Amino acid sequence: MSAQLLDGRTLAKELRETLKMDYSAFKARASVAPTLAVLHIGDDDASAGYARALAKSCEGVGALFQSVELPSSVHQQEVEEVLEELNAAPEVHGIMVLEPLPDHIDHNRLIDLMHPVKDVDGVHPLNAGRLAANRPPFYVPATPAGGIRLLEHAGVEFKGKEAVVVGRSDIVGKPMALLLLHRHCTVTIAHSRTQDLPGVCRKADILCLAVGRPEMVKADWVKPGAIVVDFGTTYTDDGLKGDCDQAGVAEVAGMLTPVPGGTGPMTNVLLMENLLRAAERVVSG
Ligand code: NDP
Repeated sequence: MSAQLLDGRTLAKELRETLKMDYSAFKARASVAPTLAVLHIGDDDASAGYARALAKSCEGVGALFQSVELPSSVHQQEVEEVLEELNAAPEVHGIMVLEPLPDHIDHNRLIDLMHPVKDVDGVHPLNAGRLAANRPPFYVPATPAGGIRLLEHAGVEFKGKEAVVVGRSDIVGKPMALLLLHRHCTVTIAHSRTQDLPGVCRKADILCLAVGRPEMVKADWVKPGAIVVDFGTTYTDDGLKGDCDQAGVAEVAGMLTPVPGGTGPMTNVLLMENLLRAAERVVSG
């Protein structure tokens, strides 16, 4: 078998074209451009790269981007004051706190302090709780939202399927599991302490990988015909790798999100959708 590859690049491009029109219509109506503020503490290369990618995503749809840069020596209280200012600023519609943070900065306190309406990453407990309770409106973290959108676009039927999500982070694994549960899958969440991970994966009709271990999942961990959603993105000497052995798994799976070109391109587009929703909510009070 050769798996159908779920092309995130093409779908993301289509969604971006529609979003551009939605942003234009919003700007004409509200006389303001949706604006994302990113809190960037310290000089970590990865978060600087992510900030650049976010700036580009904003530019691509017609949103404004503000980078608020603070030195790694900044005190918790100063960061909290800056965050409060962003919460109160009417011209800021979405806020993100980039990770990693310096060790002395309490990430959870910052997340708790963020205005839930501006939490476009869907990490504030109110948004995470609303997702858990399946009570919209809420912001769904963009990466799992993008994974689901790819599956829906491919016409995947969710009801009654065995889904296994490997990884339980608040930003990918856990929300992905909830999104599948709300679509009536029978969901197992696996993690670093799971016994017999290959056996657990082999049960899955829909196997979602959010681990960050390049090529960990082999072809013989995958049920023939399964749908494999690979969120993993690890830069290696051989290039960008997903969490599964893509070539091997493609021989067994029915559908597979390629790395690169699968879930990755979807993430920033879905984030831009969240930003537009946030702007609509902030502007309408
Ligand atoms: P985290 O490091 O926060 O979470 C990783 C999860 O994997 C944890 O739950 C951990 O278990 C689990 N895990 C680690 N080792 C194993 C193992 N040997 N067996 C089983 N489970 C294991 O990562 P994220 O959720 O933030 O990201 C996951 C991947 O997704 C990364 O590659 C990241 O780069 C990528 N990513 C991709 C995005 C995209 O747009 N496609 C966006 C965001 C992330 P435990 O909880 O027990 O420690």
